[in-house]
Amino acid sequence: MQIKELLLQTPNQQTVMVKGWVRTKRVSSSVAFIAINDGSTIHNIQAVVADGAVAEETLKLVTTGACIAVTGSLIPSQGQGQSVEVQVSDILVYGSADPEKYPLQPKKHSLEFLREIGHLRPRTNTFSAILRIRHALAFAIHQYFNEHGFFYLHTPIITGSDAEGAGEMFRVTTLPAIQPPLTEDGKVDYKEDFFGKETNLTVSGQLEGELGALALSKIYTFGPTFRAENSNTTRHLAEFWMVEPEMAFFELTDNMNLAEDFTKSLIKYALEHCADDIAFLEKRLLDEEKTKKKEEQSEMTLTEKLRFVSENTFERITYTEAIDILLQSKPHKQGKFNYPVAWGIDLQSEHERYLVEKHFKKPVILTHYPKDIKAFYMKLEDDGKTVRAMDVLFPGIGEIIGGSQREDDYEKLLQRTKEVGIEEESIWWYLQTRQFGSAPHAGFGLGFERLVLFVTGMSNIRDVIPFPRTPKSAEF
Ligand code: ATP
Ligand code: MN
Repeated sequence: MQIKELLLQTPNQQTVMVKGWVRTKRVSSSVAFIAINDGSTIHNIQAVVADGAVAEETLKLVTTGACIAVTGSLIPSQGQGQSVEVQVSDILVYGSADPEKYPLQPKKHSLEFLREIGHLRPRTNTFSAILRIRHALAFAIHQYFNEHGFFYLHTPIITGSDAEGAGEMFRVTTLPAIQPPLTEDGKVDYKEDFFGKETNLTVSGQLEGELGALALSKIYTFGPTFRAENSNTTRHLAEFWMVEPEMAFFELTDNMNLAEDFTKSLIKYALEHCADDIAFLEKRLLDEEKTKKKEEQSEMTLTEKLRFVSENTFERITYTEAIDILLQSKPHKQGKFNYPVAWGIDLQSEHERYLVEKHFKKPVILTHYPKDIKAFYMKLEDDGKTVRAMDVLFPGIGEIIGGSQREDDYEKLLQRTKEVGIEEESIWWYLQTRQFGSAPHAGFGLGFERLVLFVTGMSNIRDVIPFPRTPKSAEF
């Protein structure tokens, strides 16, 4: 039986079997207490071994990290903090763990150290809690869309279009690295490559997502996304998961409404279904906060923050209004921003965080960015200068969602592709959807790990994905 279920049983001395990994073993006046965890819950079950109940040699192998199966009877717990425990009659040791060598000791390890033992860190309380929350959020995403009439569309991971993120892509090739076939002018001849053209790992499923929305009305993608950007920040991974809904007949306001309702629902789902894990992470965070200076300490606990965001309306302002607020701000006037503020700049995370954390103190949806700092497919506003873009900014995270209403006018879209230098023949299929039955449509991309960061209260994106991929790091 999973420990999660076992802890809910009424203890009647019934025989039970538990399998899991030993968190701790302590011996007191010849009675051994073993805390076992199987990952099904943050809570351990306590197994009590009376003197002589199990052979001495067996008990010796039961050390922190060992994997065991315990048989015994379920009884009311004598100890604090748990309602039931197992009175052990038999132990089977599947795998011992030499205490001299096992890296995970029953003490607090630093997150940096745990990153170096990515193969074992899922066995810690912190990471198992994060992984369960991650699972719950992924499930909630599918549930939300399913209940709202969206279809899950699988967009390709290998892409032949370089319309987005040129230079930030990982090439996919079967050509030899040394002496690849060359064209007459000395360039690599991709005609000889596996697909007969240059291909990359996708940076977004959006363009194909639009093709789906212009047939099924409401679709979403949820899959891995790759960016070869060399940004070593706590918010960027080279491989991350992105959720991208795309909706026909949605304009910018509908898109914002969906983004707000969607993220709030996901947070509420986690609060409802992951209470124990969130409580654990909240306590962890409180301990960490105590080591910080008073002014840097968070005013809200994790649960309070999650409640606050899921119960309050997001602020909606235009990029132009945001620039005005920043120009009027203290840090700007005192020259404290590292990057200058002026209409037309791409907002830096210091600017986004000022708006969200200092000025509004809640999530903000920024709209109507200058067209020159946004992608070619965003719908041009009547002013000819701004596009119907929307970025959702979260406290402590910055941008969590980027989206827009898409340009549905063939001539205008063609014009924009030319302006930004995208070759027509590379996305002829995308352009053609605007010639045949074009429709107003909109969509957005939610960075899944940034959502998990927010919900878990963790501060480094490397700690909310099981096996992070970042520059110079792909060990596990
Ligand atoms: P940023 O400015 O933070 O780099 P972006 O503008 O490049 O983000 P988009 O291309 O709009 O982001 O992608 C949509 C969402 O995907 C972002 O809002 C963010 O949540 C997430 N995201 C983007 N890049 C990364 C990354 N390298 N690692 C993890 N999540 C990412
Ligand atoms: Mn980016």
